[in-house]
Amino acid sequence: MADKEKLGNFTKQDAPTYESVLQCMRCGFCLPTCPTFALTGRERSSPRGRVALARAVAEEKLDFNKAMKEEAFFCLDCRACTTACPSGVKAGEVMEVCRSQVHQQIDQPKWQKLFRSFVLEKMVPNPDLMETSMLPARLYQKLGVQWLVRNSHILKMAPKWIEKAEGMMPELHQPLRQRVPELTPARGEKRGKVAFFLGCVMTLMYAEVSRQTVRVLSHQGFDVITPKDQKCCGAPHLTEGDRETTRQMATHNLDLFLDLDVDAIVTDCAGCGSALKEYEELLAERQDHAKLEKFHSLIKDVSEFLVEQGIRTDELKTINKSVTYHEPCHLCHAQGISKQPRDLIKAIPGIDFREMNEASWCCGSAATFSLKFTEESQKILDRKLDNVKDTEADILVTANPGCHLQLAWGLREAGMPQPVMHLIELLGEATPE
Ligand code: SF4
Ligand code: SF4
Repeated sequence: MADKEKLGNFTKQDAPTYESVLQCMRCGFCLPTCPTFALTGRERSSPRGRVALARAVAEEKLDFNKAMKEEAFFCLDCRACTTACPSGVKAGEVMEVCRSQVHQQIDQPKWQKLFRSFVLEKMVPNPDLMETSMLPARLYQKLGVQWLVRNSHILKMAPKWIEKAEGMMPELHQPLRQRVPELTPARGEKRGKVAFFLGCVMTLMYAEVSRQTVRVLSHQGFDVITPKDQKCCGAPHLTEGDRETTRQMATHNLDLFLDLDVDAIVTDCAGCGSALKEYEELLAERQDHAKLEKFHSLIKDVSEFLVEQGIRTDELKTINKSVTYHEPCHLCHAQGISKQPRDLIKAIPGIDFREMNEASWCCGSAATFSLKFTEESQKILDRKLDNVKDTEADILVTANPGCHLQLAWGLREAGMPQPVMHLIELLGEATPE
C-alpha cells in the first residue's frame, strides 16, 4: 500500500491504493469464508462490502466516517477472504491500512491517544520495559492472588473483557530473552545456522514453548543465534493502525538480522512471521529492494523451515496420542503455510492425526478482537470448539500465541478436557533432552 498520491477522501499517509479496492468484481466467492459476514449477514461486514466502502472513500462518494471505522476494526484480519478471492483482493489488508486512517481522520478522546501512544510507541518497542511490565502479573500468580481472585468470583462484577483477559492468562515464567544464550550450538551433525526471532507474546507469555523451539532446532542440527536486542515485529502496531512505529522497528530488525549472516530467520509465532514477511511492502519506499527481498526470503515459520530441511526423526520418542490441528489465520491465509504443520505432527511416531472440520476458520482471537467484541468472539470460538469436540482428539495443537490463549480459555470454560499445545511443544515432548 503506497502513500505517494492522495487518494479521494483518504489522507496521503498510509492509505490503500486505488488498485487494491478496484480489483473487486463483486463475485461473492469470499462471502462464505468470512466469519463476520457469517455472524451478521450484513453486506458491509463482508469482504466485498468492506472493499466497496473503501472504494467509495477513494472515489469521494463517502467521507472516511464512523461506518468505515467500525468495519476496519470489526474485520478480524483473518485473510480467509484473500485465500478465496479469484481476483487477488486483500480485504483484510485494506482494512488494516484503514485502521491507520481512523487515527488520522477520526477524533479520539485525549486519554485514549495518550494511552495508545505510550503502549505502542514507548512500551512495546522497548523489550526491557515490556519485561518489567509483566512483573506484577507474575507476582500476582506466584503470591496466590490469582487463586483468590478466581475463587472469589469477584471478576463476575468486572466488565466482561477484564474477566476474559484474566481468564486467558497462562502460567507465566521468566521471559526467555533474559535467559536464552546468544548462541545455542547444534547437536549431532550440524546442518546450518539460523537466527531465532523471539516475538514479544511468545517470550513473555509462552517462554517455555519458545525455549523448546531453540532446543528442537539445536537438536535438529542447527546453531541457533538469538539476538538480545531484537524488537517486536510490529504486528500489534499494524493491528492498531500504527504503521509508522512498525516501520521504525522493522528497520532495526532488518539491519540486526541481516548482519548475522544466517541460513534462515525462524519464528514460532504465526503473527510475527506474517508481519516480518510484510516488511518488504512496508519499507518499500525507504530501503534497498535487494535487502528487503533477502530478508523476506530468510523468514521462515518453524514448521516451514523444518519440513523444508527434512525432519530428523530417528531419535524421536513415541507419543501415543490423538491430535487435531487448528490453523492460525496468519499462518495458513497470510503465509500459505498449511501442509507443513500437519507434516510435522505426522512425523512424530505414534501420533494419530485427526483432521477437524473448518480447521482454517478463525478461532475468534484476532489480536484484541476477542476483548473488544467479546460476544462475537465467543460465537466464533463456539463454532471452533464444536469442531474440536467432533474429532475426539486428546490434544489440540496450534502455532500462534493469540489462538493458543483463546482456545485454551475456551476449552476450559466449556469443560472440555483437551490441552492446547503449540506445535513445537509437541515436537519438543518427542525430542530427547
Ligand atoms: S473480494 Fe474477491 S471474492 Fe470477494 S466479491 Fe470481490 S472479487 Fe469476489
Ligand atoms: S479478513 Fe476475515 S473478517 Fe476481514 S473481511 Fe476478510 S474474511 Fe472477513
